Amino acid sequence: MTVLPQSHRPLIDSFGRRISYLRISVTDRCDFRCVYCMAEDMTFLPKKDVLSFEEVEAIAGAFIARGTTKIRLTGGEPLVRRDIMALVRSLGQKIGSGLDELTVTTNGSQLAKHAAGLYEAGVRRINVSLDTLDAERFRQITRRGWIEDVLDGISAAQAAGIAIKINMVAMRGVNDDEIEPMLAWAHGKSMGLTLIEGMPLGEVGIDRVDTYLPLRELHERLARRYTFTKLDKRTGGPARYVHVAETGGTLGFITPMSHNFCESCNRVRLTATGQLYLCLGQDDQVNLRDAWREGGAAALDAALDHAMIIKPKGHDFVLDRTHEAPAVARHMSVTGG
Ligand code: SAM
Ligand code: SF4
Repeated sequence: MTVLPQSHRPLIDSFGRRISYLRISVTDRCDFRCVYCMAEDMTFLPKKDVLSFEEVEAIAGAFIARGTTKIRLTGGEPLVRRDIMALVRSLGQKIGSGLDELTVTTNGSQLAKHAAGLYEAGVRRINVSLDTLDAERFRQITRRGWIEDVLDGISAAQAAGIAIKINMVAMRGVNDDEIEPMLAWAHGKSMGLTLIEGMPLGEVGIDRVDTYLPLRELHERLARRYTFTKLDKRTGGPARYVHVAETGGTLGFITPMSHNFCESCNRVRLTATGQLYLCLGQDDQVNLRDAWREGGAAALDAALDHAMIIKPKGHDFVLDRTHEAPAVARHMSVTGG
């Protein structure tokens, strides 16, 4: 039997799940304050604690050596971090040498100026978050964004050759009247659409119980109008996809609340300050920044081994009037969506 050096052993957790997908929150800061994600007044992580790009690259390299094939840059808003394209370019160089895909989730506000650079660095697909097509409503949801910037960003990314999936958090009484128009618009522009259930992460600006819209309900509503064919596409996350006959596009449902798919989870999340969170809905974490700073590559490897031992089986989000405090105190922008 060949014994692989520790630094090349695949990352397999105590439930037998192979971890092959790393999400990196490059900053918890953002130019928007979406009502379901952030409070109006946010306290951000101290800048001095944020990992340098060299540190992010070292940690990403350790993951890639141990079988990570996909990295997503997220946040906060990844494209507002200064010099972000330098990190994108250096991680992009790993594509084909262990890494299969480098991708980004963005609010789109800075996309117009970075689209060509992202493509040049090897990014071929991105997720853009857009919860409404109405300019005024967009302003209300994001509290400070301009929809024109996002639409320009989307056009620029498509012109650069990047495929786009739109992420839309479905909220009762906020944008649930826009699901069908968004589907028609996104598919009409050859973009996928993924609907997301609001998750109870951090104190924010809306009533999560009132606005919670189980996607099962939405699925039934849409299925009366559209013809769905289930797709096999699995991302190891809580998304399930259908093909929509009438529009010819793909529709995804991310249902962490009404149906979790934790048994097939393949991902972990690195915060901007180097904490590795092992589940979006739990607090289990390993401090990779200290491991790297104090013990270098060997300590980083040992920390990854420890992470595999403590990765929890799954989250247990509950959302009702008897559980009004958020399930997890940290905001989505810290762990990275
Ligand atoms: N700023 C970028 C963006 O908005 O795409 C990347 C980070 S954002 C935290 C990633 C995704 O998480 C977005 O699609 C956003 O809509 C979603 N999100 C944020 N808070 C959420 C929550 N509490 N429940 C469900 N989705 C959430
Ligand atoms: Fe910023 Fe994204 Fe959160 Fe909106 S969802 S506040 S764009 S991090």
